[in-house]
Amino acid sequence: MAKEDLECSFCGRKKPETNLLIAGLDAHICDRCIEQAHGIVVEESKQGEARELSSDLMLSKPRVIKKFLDEYIIGQEETKKVLSVAVYNHYKRLLQPDSNDDVEIQKSNIVMVGETGTGKTLMARTIARMLNVPLAIVDATVLTEAGYVGEDVEGILTRLLQAADYNTEKAQRGIVFIDELDKIARKSDNPSITRDVSGEGVQQALLKLLEGTTVNVPPKGGRKHPDQKFIEVNTENILFIAGGAFDGIERIISKRLNMQAVGFSASKTEDSIERTNLLKYIIPRDLKEFGLIPEIIGRLPALTYMNPLDRDTLRAILTEPKNAIIKQYKKLFEMDDIQFDISNEALDYIVDKAIEYKLGARGLRSLCEAILTDAMFELPESGEDDFTVNREYAEDKLNKSTISKLKAVS
Ligand code: ADP
Repeated sequence: MAKEDLECSFCGRKKPETNLLIAGLDAHICDRCIEQAHGIVVEESKQGEARELSSDLMLSKPRVIKKFLDEYIIGQEETKKVLSVAVYNHYKRLLQPDSNDDVEIQKSNIVMVGETGTGKTLMARTIARMLNVPLAIVDATVLTEAGYVGEDVEGILTRLLQAADYNTEKAQRGIVFIDELDKIARKSDNPSITRDVSGEGVQQALLKLLEGTTVNVPPKGGRKHPDQKFIEVNTENILFIAGGAFDGIERIISKRLNMQAVGFSASKTEDSIERTNLLKYIIPRDLKEFGLIPEIIGRLPALTYMNPLDRDTLRAILTEPKNAIIKQYKKLFEMDDIQFDISNEALDYIVDKAIEYKLGARGLRSLCEAILTDAMFELPESGEDDFTVNREYAEDKLNKSTISKLKAVS
């Protein structure tokens, strides 16, 4: 057959009418048909992903979500419950069929108030892991209004796109964790204060993202790459979880509580109320008083708090979560065929030190590192097949390490 007579087996175009005709065993296909077929493949796989997502998510009832959180996070029962419901409702909203009644389910973005190191980031991470959605963790302190030194609010979405391997569909169903939200609070409750770059302006910019909008996102972020092509990201279905220590908010809560209590228990002084109890009473108005604008508060409807970690919780964090620190060390040693054990007294000692040095849960890991580094350096070549840490060993290693110098500081 003459070359010009060859034709596409799919659309019948003759070779001269095509840009490219590719030969198969008994057939040919032209460039246009390839493109069309590619479009179908992409579309189908997108629908497949959506189906997968919906079947996954439908299984995750709040109780199931909470159970998953329980595996990784100790305590914080109230927050886990609030989070489970908020996440469940959020994804229910995503999966709702287009209905023509006027009930529009609003987003259930979340704000967690609690000291640093109490597990706020861990909550967001665990939720993202469970749902298998991309997660971006951003620090609100670096955000500034567009045009100022620092990161534009859009940068948040760049991170999310990166976490989603630039799959826009996935990014649009992802989770953004905004840490240190309290740092962009207005410094004074007086709105007429001269503009503060890192305060209200950023809140306004953030508001748009929380509300749901389409943003042109520079895929590489920043202003360093002026000629990059923007990617359009719609934030309508992104779940925002914010966290912050909100230092001093207890005073606001206590003031409000005392005012409410006037005439009932005048003897209740501020000092006699514990901080743990105070955060429990937090309401959106307290955030406003702290310096968040009402619109932002309105867009973060699920408000919850974290309890400070007490001794028992710290102790449990060492050994109980699915990827507890001690379990991780066991696994590391196991890879060198060494059976690693640590006595209860040694664990108690580590917890005591974390409390003494005011290191919280984050300090547990540094303390373990200080105690175990020598062993991890020496044992792999030693031929030993078990290694047990008791209190004396832990004490000895810690006293020799730099971490014990923290004592002088506190
Ligand atoms: P935050 O975001 O509140 O500052 P993080 O989530 O970063 O705190 O917590 C720091 C580390 O402490 C976590 O990586 C985790 O190992 C540990 N941690 C804190 N709270 C808990 C908890 N309730 N259960 C298990 N681990 C915890």
